[in-house]
Amino acid sequence: MSFSPLIGQLIDALCCLPGVGPKSAQRMAFHLLQRDHAGATRLATSLLESIERIGHCSQCRTLSEQSICALCASHKRDRSLLCVVESQVDLQAVLQAADYQGMFFVLMGHLSPLDGIGPADIGLDKLAARLDEGEIREVILATNPTAEGEATAHYIAEIVESRPGIRATRIAHGVPVGGELEFVNSSTLSRAFNARSEV
Ligand code: ZN
Repeated sequence: MSFSPLIGQLIDALCCLPGVGPKSAQRMAFHLLQRDHAGATRLATSLLESIERIGHCSQCRTLSEQSICALCASHKRDRSLLCVVESQVDLQAVLQAADYQGMFFVLMGHLSPLDGIGPADIGLDKLAARLDEGEIREVILATNPTAEGEATAHYIAEIVESRPGIRATRIAHGVPVGGELEFVNSSTLSRAFNARSEV
């Protein structure tokens, strides 16, 4: 089925969202056009305003309207701890779930040589400069437990370890709380054994 040029353009535009294919994009487009003009206007205005005003925090690279975000500006947080995460979503997850009071650094991705993503693309020059400022004592590597996330953590650990007085730690990965051992895959279970702790 072919749509008028503008409808086609809207459907194509909606397909840029993660997890949205042509079918879902069509449903969204028709919903906005037929049933929710006010919602569509709010969405369009908010998108335009966000794109115009939101940039990256100069210290942690998180998305922010200010040049220094609220977390980095806070005097209540422990400035000797720096947690490195891959994305803004991961930062929110740590903030909501963990009792962590330190600072953050958001890579906005991970090292991926095949896709041409190198150290500078994920801000590692900025991270090194931050470590050289002398406040940080521990870098907590909270990248994802994927091949790319592990490679990125390993690369950053080397940057950290080349600086005396700062240690690199990796968050533990293992059996999920409420999970059953028989359903846990072997590499996860093997990690959980290696990272076991005293009870
Ligand atoms: Zn910040």
